[in-house]
Amino acid sequence: MSLLVDFHCHLDLFKDFESIVQQCEQSRIYTLAVTTTPRAWERNKAITKNTKYVRAALGFHPQLVAQFKHELPLFFELIDETRYIGEIGIDGSKEYRNSIVDQTEVFNAILKRCAKSENKILSIHSRGAENEVFKALKNNVGAGKPILHWFTGSVKQLDEAIELGCWFSVGPAMLATQKGKMLVERMPLNKLLTETDAPFAKYDAVGLTPLNAPIAISLLADIWNKDSDASKQRVFSNLQTLLS
Ligand code: MN
Repeated sequence: MSLLVDFHCHLDLFKDFESIVQQCEQSRIYTLAVTTTPRAWERNKAITKNTKYVRAALGFHPQLVAQFKHELPLFFELIDETRYIGEIGIDGSKEYRNSIVDQTEVFNAILKRCAKSENKILSIHSRGAENEVFKALKNNVGAGKPILHWFTGSVKQLDEAIELGCWFSVGPAMLATQKGKMLVERMPLNKLLTETDAPFAKYDAVGLTPLNAPIAISLLADIWNKDSDASKQRVFSNLQTLLS
């Protein structure tokens, strides 16, 4: 059994979506295929209908909220077709700061609606808007289990996220930076999952795929001072806990 986990990647943005899903299945990689707009859901749902390792998430990427805000009703229509919600969140970086009011509104509305369902799992983007994301999570307790994907906030913000009970998914691109390593060292071992953020993220200048999940494991193993098998087992048992 492979026990590998990629808990945040964008399979529908690969040129051959179906073939990458099949590769994840064959390599037995537990994969969460996040999406970026509610309109992407139907195809993701169809392609992951009979998969054992790949699950699709219903998403609304904060960077696309300004452009696709009118799709929010569709998001709500679809919300109970899956337990997995993402990519959602708020992006406060320079390019997206001008839509932060809309983004915050949409994120809060999604969390509020998630709180009416049971057991949602949330893959959350928080770049440059960590405090806004925390505030929304605090305002919507019971929305589900939040996983902060590729967290890049400060140490103080990380401590707040831990305090809030957040989980974290970390990938090769994050683990390759000094700051990323420093943050991961501070994250609780039992709240950590691996991801690739494929096809966006790169490692050693090469675009990642979920098949690169072992890179995340070996970088984590270095940080944890464990061997690869023990690290893989740790992440896998975290996944089981998350889903239980
Ligand atoms: Mn992403």
